[in-house]
Amino acid sequence: MEKKSSTIGFRETLAIHRRAVADMNRLSPACFVPFILSAGVKAISPYVSIWLSARLINELASLRRPEVLGRWVFLILVITIVTDLLQAVLDRWKNVKDELFYNRYESLYTDKFIEMDYADCDKQEVRDLFTQIQQSTNWGGWGFDYLTMYFSQAVEGLFGIFSAFALTVSLFTQMVPPSGGDLTLLNHPIFIVTVLLFILGVTFLGPALGKKANSVWSDLAEESRFGNRLFSHFCFVKLGNKEKDMDRRIYCQGDLMAHYIDTVNIFGVGSHFDRLLTTTVGLRTAFAAGLSALLSGGIYLFVCLKALGGAFGIGSVTQYVRAVTSFSGNAAMVLETMNHMQTNAEFLTSIYQFLDIPNAMGKGERSLNKGRALRYEVEFRDVSFKYPGSDLWALRHINFHFQQGRRLAIVGENGSGKTTFIKLLCRLYYPQEGQILLNGVDIRDYNHDEYMTFFAVVFQDFQLLAQALGNNVAGRSDYDREKAREALVEAGFGERLLRMEEGLDTMLYKDLSEKGVDLSGGEAQKIAIARALYKDAPFIVLDEPTAALDPIAEAEIYSKFDQVAQDKTTIFISHRLSSCKFCDEIAVFHEGRIIQQGSHKDLLAGGKGKYHDLWMAQAQYYTK
Ligand code: ADP
Repeated sequence: MEKKSSTIGFRETLAIHRRAVADMNRLSPACFVPFILSAGVKAISPYVSIWLSARLINELASLRRPEVLGRWVFLILVITIVTDLLQAVLDRWKNVKDELFYNRYESLYTDKFIEMDYADCDKQEVRDLFTQIQQSTNWGGWGFDYLTMYFSQAVEGLFGIFSAFALTVSLFTQMVPPSGGDLTLLNHPIFIVTVLLFILGVTFLGPALGKKANSVWSDLAEESRFGNRLFSHFCFVKLGNKEKDMDRRIYCQGDLMAHYIDTVNIFGVGSHFDRLLTTTVGLRTAFAAGLSALLSGGIYLFVCLKALGGAFGIGSVTQYVRAVTSFSGNAAMVLETMNHMQTNAEFLTSIYQFLDIPNAMGKGERSLNKGRALRYEVEFRDVSFKYPGSDLWALRHINFHFQQGRRLAIVGENGSGKTTFIKLLCRLYYPQEGQILLNGVDIRDYNHDEYMTFFAVVFQDFQLLAQALGNNVAGRSDYDREKAREALVEAGFGERLLRMEEGLDTMLYKDLSEKGVDLSGGEAQKIAIARALYKDAPFIVLDEPTAALDPIAEAEIYSKFDQVAQDKTTIFISHRLSSCKFCDEIAVFHEGRIIQQGSHKDLLAGGKGKYHDLWMAQAQYYTK
């Protein structure tokens, strides 16, 4: 991610935060209310108690009237109890909202991924941008997380400044009486100006130095993110990943990880971060603190001498000292918040760069005519396609035509374009050249969501969810249980289902339930096939469906599939040519082109060609 902190001005900072607040308010109406109220009460209550205590001390140091003292004590008690209770209630409300807040903005990302064009979803730069966003949130909480804090701090700071100001004004208006002798000198405007300058010094110098220290971290954002990435990568490899754990043990990768962590020392002792903390950042912070202490000392002296001269009572000394300190503290907090927002604006900019990725593919409007009686025909007309960011044609001049009810097989070596062909058919990408037509109409013109209902695909790297078996098959929680059971039986999972005590409600994997079952590759593949059957779409595509199945299960699936598929169009991508024999038509892909097309018999007939070579290469293992 590029560093933009130096280019983001105050206006842009406010604008992007306003947008973020509006988005959060839309997702969770009034989510900032408890933060504002809680900060308001927190800001005002100390000043109320400062003012009341000053009145009590003044009375104690002067007339000591019991009824007046009693009244002040009573007021202090009541107000303290009420504000504490109110604060507790508001804090609870705030904490609950804070938890929800995280879920809400996470949903912005999830929704974006769901609605984003698949072509963008699949782009490495988009993935990188999203990883950076997540890492920035993890290492510094940057982005939406800070919005609630800004609200609290701004409200607390502004209330604080206002209240402190109100309590401080009389420090300058109450004069030392002539009885104060030499101390009447303190009434001279030069002292007032000096004390005001001291207050400004405490208020602005601290944040100015704080800003410098903060900018150091923002300069190191890239390095921090990398450190975080490294750390989470190795923690994940070491602790969280079952598949990688096997390799780690067999190849003793523990040493490799330790070596990597030790040599790329980003956060540890002696690292750049560590050195900065003990030098630049540490010194600036110490200097700011020392200067503030010195200036505050001068202010306290002025207040005490004025009291000594008789300008006000002893109680008022505590009031002024505390009010002046809080004035500076609150003003500093507001300024720091603004600086922090400027840094955060950089991260929000990246977030919106991701959320604003446009949907360039278009969703189409044309309605699809559906119905069992309708026939569907698909035609690839001189289609060529390159993946975004690649110079190589993954598919070149593809011409292919197939009708509903046909069994098609696509064969070819790895990387020959078979999966890409399916991705184009399913509108995950659009070709740069040529057209794909469904019943004579370009597939881009059809309503996207409707078009998607036409395809049930079992991709090679399909994913099952760590949810109930039935939910996986149906893709929803409220589903037709009988239909799901039938699909599982048809996919060859029937026996295993009978052995599952909780049947369709059995949780898959252990991520969300201790009772979840782990699945073998073949079992998972059968469930994925059942999911495709449940969808009951006119086109079923199986991309290497039998790779993880044993030969018996494979034979079962193919023989059943023929019955199950009936009038559906089935497309098989397979390396095992024996499983293509029963297909009506076979297309042989090679380096992005279709180089042969026909039935198994036709393609073997000449005794030469790619199909023949592939067939012979596999057959030799069985015939030798
Ligand atoms: P097959 O399914 O026949 O093994 P693919 O259709 O997956 O082949 O790939 C065809 C070509 O496209 C290969 O050269 C592959 O490297 C390339 N390719 C596949 N997916 C991507 C992608 N997401 N980005 C860039 N190139 C890709």
